[in-house]
Amino acid sequence: MIVMKFGGTSVGSAQRMKDVCRLITADGKAKMVVLSAMSGTTNTLVEISDYLYKKNPEGANNIINQLEQKYRNHVDELYATEEYKQKTLSFLKEEFDYLRSFTKILFTSFEEKMILAQGEIISTNMVTNYLKECGVKTILFSALDFMRTDKNAEPDFNYIKEKVNEQLSANPGYEIYITQGFICRNAYGEIDNLLRGGSDYTACLIGAALKSEEIQIWTDIDGMHNNDPRVVEHTEPVRQLHFEEAAELAYFGAKILHPTCIQPAKFAGVPVRLLNTMDPSAPGTIINNEIQHGKIKAVAAKDNIVSIQIQSSRMLLAYGFLRKVFEIFESYKTSIDMVSTSEVGVSVTIDNKSYLKDIIADLMKYGTVTVNENMCIICVVGDLAWENVGFESLTAQALKDIPVQMISYGGSNHNISFLVKMEDKKRALQAFSDTLFNS
Ligand code: ASP
Ligand code: MG
Repeated sequence: MIVMKFGGTSVGSAQRMKDVCRLITADGKAKMVVLSAMSGTTNTLVEISDYLYKKNPEGANNIINQLEQKYRNHVDELYATEEYKQKTLSFLKEEFDYLRSFTKILFTSFEEKMILAQGEIISTNMVTNYLKECGVKTILFSALDFMRTDKNAEPDFNYIKEKVNEQLSANPGYEIYITQGFICRNAYGEIDNLLRGGSDYTACLIGAALKSEEIQIWTDIDGMHNNDPRVVEHTEPVRQLHFEEAAELAYFGAKILHPTCIQPAKFAGVPVRLLNTMDPSAPGTIINNEIQHGKIKAVAAKDNIVSIQIQSSRMLLAYGFLRKVFEIFESYKTSIDMVSTSEVGVSVTIDNKSYLKDIIADLMKYGTVTVNENMCIICVVGDLAWENVGFESLTAQALKDIPVQMISYGGSNHNISFLVKMEDKKRALQAFSDTLFNS
């Protein structure tokens, strides 16, 4: 059974929901369908929570009422029959009364998670009702019954696998199985989520748990592009990526896919296909275990990077220096992205500035510390194994007119990264497109 996930814009209006339903029922085969909240809804739910944190129930109520009105209009457009209009309106009434109930109680992060869960609960109920109205054999599974995280807030894969398979065998014979992306329970049974954008993760976890033939992630762009289409002209979709290449791209900025979601699919060996709801016949991007030898696939950029250089003559011919440096970052739960070293110094980059001051203060015990903010990592992804001659010089040549602070190569076979100023990002990305893809 394939798993299909539709993001917020793909279910962003009544018409889009109808389009999705046509898509998922086209071939009559059974499917597991994972849905996001309608676009904008999760942000609105965050806004409602912000009012409640600030003890402004009136502010929260205003937004809740506006959101309710929006949804009532969707109902009018989505359903043809009075029966399903009424059914969905009374479901929405309950939902929004539930949201209003939070304006009367003490508000903490537990309540916020409950509020954030409603976007996906609403969208999946609406689509389920629509499919039923159309006569499609449909069942809605609550993700809260089988998506669970462990004590480290990581998905509890064995639990998910057992429970989702149990649910499926207990409910055979349906054409469409629908469930919510993003939401889950934590190790204590409380409502929680897989962080913003987490619906992709849900889909990949379910696809891996079901040993699906394929996980399809449907968005509003025709696959992963070879460069950032918001910044650079003439980008093109990449037809195929290795799991590792896709993971690097997702982490280093290609917004189309949640960075951690590739892992479960990779471990289970289930290919992931990125497709476009606005153009369903476009081939999109397939992510699988194949390497296209000697091919550079794509470039991505990650903004708001801080570089930290530690120079010390004590590093000369000494051992243990790097460990001491890295331990400082570890003690502040700050992860390092890029590293480059010389005999008398090491430079690293981080993207989380929360503990920057403390980190610098601690590093100063070991050497001279220089910090640069507003930097940008540009990462080139492809088959960049060192045996493939010429890619280092080709990529460096592309940036010949741009100041590069750090280069990192050899950490994996799939990536070479350059650290430049954010103000040079557009120029650098364009230069890569011109040299690597458009020449
Ligand atoms: N609705 C959630 C969000 O906006 C999850 C998702 O769409 O992936 O972050
Ligand atoms: Mg998303």
